[in-house]
Formats: sequence, structure tokens, C-alpha cells
Amino acid sequence: MIPSILPTYTRAPLSFVKGEGSWLIEADGRRFLDLGAGIAVNALGHAHPALVKALTEQAEALWHVSNLYRIPQQEALADKLVEATFADTVFFTNSGTESCELAVKMARKYWYDKGQPARTDIITFSGSFHGRSSAGIAAVGSEKMTKGFGPLLPGFKHLEWRDLDGLKAAIDDQTAAVLLEPIQGEGGIRPLPDAELKAIRALCDEAGCLLILDEVQCGMGRTGRLFAHEWAGIVPDIMMVAKGIGGGFPLGAVLATEEAASGMTAGTHGSTYGGNPLGCAVGCAVMDEINTPAFLDAVNRKAGMLQQKLEGLIAAHPEVFEEVRGTGFMLGLKCKAPNTDVVAAGYDNLLITVPAGDNVIRLLPPLTLSEEEIAEALIRLDAVACQIESA
Ligand SMILES: *Cc1c(COP(=O)(O)O)cnc(C)c1O
Repeated sequence: MIPSILPTYTRAPLSFVKGEGSWLIEADGRRFLDLGAGIAVNALGHAHPALVKALTEQAEALWHVSNLYRIPQQEALADKLVEATFADTVFFTNSGTESCELAVKMARKYWYDKGQPARTDIITFSGSFHGRSSAGIAAVGSEKMTKGFGPLLPGFKHLEWRDLDGLKAAIDDQTAAVLLEPIQGEGGIRPLPDAELKAIRALCDEAGCLLILDEVQCGMGRTGRLFAHEWAGIVPDIMMVAKGIGGGFPLGAVLATEEAASGMTAGTHGSTYGGNPLGCAVGCAVMDEINTPAFLDAVNRKAGMLQQKLEGLIAAHPEVFEEVRGTGFMLGLKCKAPNTDVVAAGYDNLLITVPAGDNVIRLLPPLTLSEEEIAEALIRLDAVACQIESA
């Protein structure tokens, strides 16, 4: 008999009832150190006082009005994002997938309004993840994600990750945009070197096509900069955001330049919930916490410490781990043992990590992870490795 919850997930036999900072408390009372943060969502950990305050105060005042009216919390958050980034304008969504939908629509509408309606292709790369909607799965195009769900939305061209020669050859007068994650998340923490992101920006400029960055996972301070592309010193035309921006409240956004957004006039897009007062009140609190030099400096310092200790872990357990990769607190440990075994051994040792493609386990802790918690994480990861070795 089918369970009452559609069985699209293979779930761990864990059920958490409370969160405190970097810790998750299971129904049986066990305390797990959370290096997953709900897949890079709880950027400020669990039950951060500033977020609890923002949410409860807003909940007592007003939950929802729809986008038929002005929403002050939404305007405040948009102003903060515009102030802090390349963007001139923001549309709020409830998820990364919805941000992908708008990014694709925005790029196509841009060229349509420019009198180049044939310019509809979006170029994407293997190992990417852009969500599970019809556009999201067509964008990725992998058999795993698309099998049985055809006909797929047309207009996506798929290249191998980091194939810059292929990209140069593929961009033509039908190309609307190039879409990529500066660091692939689901694909296994596969970073694009800064020089290559710069080169892709230059290719887009030469061909006059738009660059869409998917910073749903790597954005919002995760890499030690507010957004990961800042490391490469380039800017996109359109950027997808979600996950960390709500700190656990469902919130996403599409950021764009005035030029790239020029086709999106009144009536061309909408969302009933997107940018609602609750989400945006929390989003403002998240931005205020994360977007300060002191906070981002601390992320870089602590993440450097964690990366260094992980190098030691790999050296001590070469049969279990192969390498560490990523930037800031967006780290992947490439495993020699099956990554799902390593994640499961983590549960035995009261440690939460997240599996990804390419046999990687992801470490995506709250950005507020303390030095003591980093030390504790290493003790637990060492115990995990010993358990795998003795199995
Ligand atoms: C998680 C993720 C998405 C999809 O976000 P949802 O909120 O699950 O819809 C899209 N792109 C990237 C890079 C992601 O990590």
C-alpha cells in the first residue's frame, strides 16, 4: 500500500523535534551535530534569536496580503539585496525551482522584446541542478531527472561541465543565456575556477548573451562572500537565490540588472505567496546578520580552519576519503567508501552530513558554526572513518 506521504524520498530513520544553533535533537533525546543545515538552508543555524523574533513579530502583525498591494518587508529586503549586489531589481519566490522558472522566462522575454524571438536557447552543464520543475529538469537533462517525464521543455543545450571550448562553439544567434552554478552543489561540490567563470563571462559578453548564475546553494554567505561569483570579480545578468536567504523559511529570489529585467513588465509574471510578509521579514533579518564584513570574515576564518582539519582527516584515513573541495562552508569530501555508507555512519556517530553526486558527502554547516563545534565535528568525522575502516 502506498504510504500517506508520496514515497519520492528515501528517508533516514531520524525524526528531529528541536534545533538549537548547530545542533538537532532527535525525538529520543540524542543530540546531532548538524553539518547539513537542511541542505544549506539554515544559514544561521536553528532557532537563531534574531530570526525567531522577526518571524514571531511578523506573525502577530500580518501573514499574507498578496502582491496586489505594497509589502513593506518585501521592499526593505529588495532594497538590501540591490544595495549589496550587482542587481537593480528583485522578484521574490518561495523556492529555488521557482527562481529557475523566472530566470528562464526573463532571459527569453529579454530577447523577444529586443526583436530576436528565435533567441531562446539556454546553455547548461552536466552535473548541474536547477530544481525539479519542467524547466528545471529540462535544464539539466540527465536521464536520472528526466526519464518518464517527457516531452521535455525544449530550448536547452547541454554541455560537459567546464567545457569552455565547447561553450565557445555552442553559443550562437539562438543563445539566450548561459546558466550555471559557480560551485555545483548536488553534482558533488564541483567548483568552477575563478578564471573559468571570468572566461565564461567574457564569452557571454562577446556573443551578447546573458549570464544566469544559480546561487541557490552557494549564495548568501556560504562561500565567505555574500555571493560566490564575487570571488571571481564578475557579475551575472540574472541570479537565482533561495535556500539560505530564508534561513529555514521558504523564500527565494531572482536578482537582475535593469537591462536583463527589461522584458518583465506588469502582468508578465506573478506569485501568490512570493515575497509574503513572513518570508521577507525573516529574509531581512538573515541579510542583516550575514551581510557584514565581520560575519563574512568569521565564516572565512572558521571555514579555513575546518578545511585544514579536513586535510588532516584525509591524510589519516586515505582508504575512506580522497579529497576535500569547495569554498568557505560549502565543502565536499570525496569518498572512497560509498558516500551513503559514510553518511549513515555519521548518523551512528551523531553527525549530520548530506550526500551528493560524484560519491561526495557535503559539509554545509550553519555559517555560525563555532570553533569548538569544528573541533567536535572532526572528532565525530574521525569516528565515522574508523567505523568505515573496521566494517
Ligand atoms: C536546491 C537547489 C535548487 C532548487 O531549489 P528548491 O528550493 O528545492 O526548489 C536549484 N538550484 C540549486 C543550485 C540548488 O541547490
